[in-house]
Amino acid sequence: MDLSYGPEEERFRERVKAFFQTNLPKGWGTSDFGSMGRDEVQFLRDWQRKLYENGFLGMSWPKEYGGQGASAIEMAIFNEEAAKVRAPSPLNVLGLSLAGPTIIAHGTPEQKSRHLAKILSCEEIWCQGFSEPGSGSDLGSLRTRAELRGDEFVVNGQKVWTSLAHIADWCMLLVRTDPSLPKHRGLSYLLVDMKTPGVTVKPLRQMTGSSEFNEMFFEDVRVPRHNLLGGLNNGWKVAMTTLANERGTMSLAMAARFFMTYNEMVNMCRKLDRPVLKDPRVRQQLAQFFVDLQGLKYTLYRSFSTILRGGTPGPEGSVSKIAWSELNQRMHEFVMQVEGPASQLTGRQTHSIESGRWQYGYLRSRANTIEAGTSEIQRNIIAERVLGLPRAR
Ligand SMILES: Cc1cc2nc3c(=O)[nH]c(=O)nc-3n(C[C@H](O)[C@H](O)[C@H](O)COP(=O)(O)OP(=O)(O)OC[C@H]3O[C@@H](n4cnc5c(N)ncnc54)[C@H](O)[C@@H]3O)c2cc1C
Repeated sequence: MDLSYGPEEERFRERVKAFFQTNLPKGWGTSDFGSMGRDEVQFLRDWQRKLYENGFLGMSWPKEYGGQGASAIEMAIFNEEAAKVRAPSPLNVLGLSLAGPTIIAHGTPEQKSRHLAKILSCEEIWCQGFSEPGSGSDLGSLRTRAELRGDEFVVNGQKVWTSLAHIADWCMLLVRTDPSLPKHRGLSYLLVDMKTPGVTVKPLRQMTGSSEFNEMFFEDVRVPRHNLLGGLNNGWKVAMTTLANERGTMSLAMAARFFMTYNEMVNMCRKLDRPVLKDPRVRQQLAQFFVDLQGLKYTLYRSFSTILRGGTPGPEGSVSKIAWSELNQRMHEFVMQVEGPASQLTGRQTHSIESGRWQYGYLRSRANTIEAGTSEIQRNIIAERVLGLPRAR
């Protein structure tokens, strides 16, 4: 693990800082920003386009497809600085972190030309159609069926928990193409235009009040054969590329974001009308979080080093996934305790603290140990693929 940066990387960091100083939207980072009445999707679309035009997206993607042809270190530096100023995330987050890298790894030259630049510019937003009712952790058991008829696949079935499907233009769809093969071998990976007749999207409301994800229904949806990614019945291998990216990237940004949250948590404690920071139990807990954060930081750095050496994230990403998701839940639970009765107040209710941002975070953090693979599944991966223990089944 090498944590030093060369002079060129430091120059790049200065360029990123200067960009944020000039371009960060006015009022961004304050609790009032969300209520300014702008169209959030359009705002985030414009923001991503600006990042792209300034050369801050697709840093390690090939130049001929709109990327910068630079190293993953620059991408990490950009993400780290963005996290430090809590810059808005690019809207097409699943396109950038999952679809793009998977198409780069498995796509034909035509698929790369067709999709990569539009992912970067946010002209086309992507969603990930993997999970189904009854097939989440055991993804290999999925039942959405795609029958090859001539030059088309005809898709029938249902997906669920599909983040961003309500605004997506394209979907990474995992389907069963040969039910006679063992379950992981009969799958294929399709790139599906969400405007194709027969695709229906129904938003689901979460306990936070937001609707981040959806149900998706496919009824006789016709997908051209040339939208098959990575070969017929080779979908499991392609899907593993997507899942490895889901668990293993964003490391330096994640560390920076957690340190920001930690500092904000201490500041919030300072502002409470009770002197909670004098309570030794609170002080000990804060010190413990600080120690946990150091451990998380170096675990994330280690998994970033693996990416730099091997190009793709390895199963060690599961260690970071467990560490950050469970730490985030513990930190938010702690805030609920420290805030006392005020922890029950959300949003703009009188006496709510910091416009209820910690309450939202507390409810949202519940999803962290489920999304991108549950903690139990991550522990199985660590046991089998990192520690080499016998398979669970
Ligand atoms: C906020 C959010 C966003 C999401 N976005 C997407 C998305 O965009 N696209 C998408 O395809 N999916 C998405 N998902 C779905 C997510 O990937 C699944 O919820 C997750 O994989 C778990 O699957 P499941 O919900 O079917 O639970 P199940 O697999 O039914 O698991 C239920 C419980 O059993 C445990 N369990 C299951 N199998 C084992 C085992 N072998 N050993 C030990 N314990 C086990 C699990 O850990 C869990 O506690 C999202 C989920 C959330 C919460």
